[in-house]
Amino acid sequence: MASIFSKIISGEIPSYKIAETDEFLAFLDINPNAKGHTLCIPKKEVNKIFELDEKTYLDLMSFSRKVALAIEKAIPCKRVGISVIGLEVPHVHVHLIPLNSMEDARFVNKESMTPEEFQNTVKAIKSYL
Ligand code: 5GP
Repeated sequence: MASIFSKIISGEIPSYKIAETDEFLAFLDINPNAKGHTLCIPKKEVNKIFELDEKTYLDLMSFSRKVALAIEKAIPCKRVGISVIGLEVPHVHVHLIPLNSMEDARFVNKESMTPEEFQNTVKAIKSYL
């Protein structure tokens, strides 16, 4: 069965898209730790990050870096943190999280955002890509 992220790639499930290439997609996390929390995924459906072939792994990191630099310009924060977990969705994804305190890295306190706030966040990040 296709992962929820493959359904986002195909457009079956909507998402707030930040960036897309032939191989990768970046979109806002629907239940963000902080405003601007973004997921970067390979379109190839692979469960665990270290199962990716080396080229795809390195290219995913390079894609994530570009997105992270744009997030850092668009969203007021001390820095953008990176995290890979995957316990909920078995399709490789890199979390990029604007951090102001350690709480933002803990996946406990979630930020509630309206559709308009999601849209404005997309616009702000994209303007720096
Ligand atoms: P993990 O697998 O790394 O533990 O977490 C999966 C992440 O994917 C969570 O932060 C969760 O909010 C996010 N997520 C789960 N389902 C969806 C979805 O349908 N759309 C979006 N944009 N994010 C999702």
